[in-house]
Amino acid sequence: MDKRQKRYFLSENEIPTKWYNIQADMPNKPAPMISPETRQPITVEELSKLISKEAARQELNITDAWIDIPEPVQEMYRYYRSTPLVRAYGLEKALGTPAHIYFKNESVSPVGSHKLNSALPQAYYCKQEGATNITTETGAGQWGCALSYASKVFGLECAVYQVKISYEQKPYRRSVMQAFGAQVTPSPSMSTRAGKDILTKYPNHQGSLGTAISEAVELARTTPGCKYSLGSVMSHVSLHQTIIGLEAELQMQKAGEYPDVVIGCFGGGSNFSGIAFPFMRHNILDGKKTRFVAAEPESCPKLTRGKFCYDYGDESGYTPLMPMFSLGHSFKPANIHAGGLRYHGAGVVVSQLLKDGLMEAVDISQLGSFEAGLLFAKAEGIVPAPESCHAIAATIAEANRCKETGEEKVLLFCLSGHGLMDMSAYDQYISGSLGNYTISDEDIMSNTQNL
Ligand SMILES: *Cc1c(COP(=O)(O)O)cnc(C)c1O
Repeated sequence: MDKRQKRYFLSENEIPTKWYNIQADMPNKPAPMISPETRQPITVEELSKLISKEAARQELNITDAWIDIPEPVQEMYRYYRSTPLVRAYGLEKALGTPAHIYFKNESVSPVGSHKLNSALPQAYYCKQEGATNITTETGAGQWGCALSYASKVFGLECAVYQVKISYEQKPYRRSVMQAFGAQVTPSPSMSTRAGKDILTKYPNHQGSLGTAISEAVELARTTPGCKYSLGSVMSHVSLHQTIIGLEAELQMQKAGEYPDVVIGCFGGGSNFSGIAFPFMRHNILDGKKTRFVAAEPESCPKLTRGKFCYDYGDESGYTPLMPMFSLGHSFKPANIHAGGLRYHGAGVVVSQLLKDGLMEAVDISQLGSFEAGLLFAKAEGIVPAPESCHAIAATIAEANRCKETGEEKVLLFCLSGHGLMDMSAYDQYISGSLGNYTISDEDIMSNTQNL
């Protein structure tokens, strides 16, 4: 009988009670976000017209390395945390690699992805500060599901703009949001000025996260008692997600190992930041040499081929201008199935860290991602989200390099979600009707040259 330990958990009193704010320890702080109205660095006051004041404070906090997790949020975390740290013996064997592969399984959250880690505190802060409604955008629907549930938990009404292509491709995520009591609208819609403008210009617009953000921001701005909330990109979202890496650090200790490479898929950066920042802290402060790899889709390559510039977070230019790697806010990503990775920009913290060489990025083709996902499914019994497949593909590439060199490296990746709501995408891959999407340098140039 094989007695090797497969999964590592924390007891309830070992679960971290603070998040880690890497902004306090960064050698170079990110440049300030700029207000689209005043053209000056944005203030907490201004930002809190849109999002909760506490989230705004966290967003701009570059001094406190540790931020307390509110007790009611800790209580909700205990419903599903700690999530398991799993040694992927099955995958190691399938690859014949000497590498030790671990994954942090965020797919066990009630909504099936890491997104709930930030939805809970964001809804909590809005409620505390007197909001009655909350609104947001969602791509594939994971964030919408997480915020719909968190809104129900803390007693808020939730309205979600879902990217139209995902609304049609993934009808069951819409049903899940509705099951939690949220109101779901496909975006672009005729219910906002931003949506109308876009539909007038492009009647067949399939939607994008940038467009859906414009609609949700507009609703929040024009509705009393309504706050906007984001599922990725922003620094406070990355902050909340550090619960992933902080737990993983303690769990790796129980396994008696420390990662040589930490890998996460990359949409706006929240799950990558979540698993990476607590370990990156030891690179910055203690001279550790761990590598950090963000895996993005070949069709939306902001980290590997984007431009570092000031850009808007949404298509209509309602959000603050952020210093980030971007493909341009008018970039229209191809309709790949990893809906959560179809976003034109990267968070300001991750962008600065990439610029400073503290992390790396790789791009993964759509077919390569599904091939990796199916290999993982067969080896570990979990069907990964199409987004997570990108992290798996990058991990497999590292493990295969270890096979060539004979190195016993320790690899850790974040399984950001399961793919049980994405089986139509798997169907298409298995039947051979999926393709790859690459974009030309000219395409990238034309969207970023004026930024
Ligand atoms: C939203 C999502 C992503 C991408 O967002 P990040 O903020 O980059 O983490 C990745 N995986 C899953 C399962 C998601 O739901």
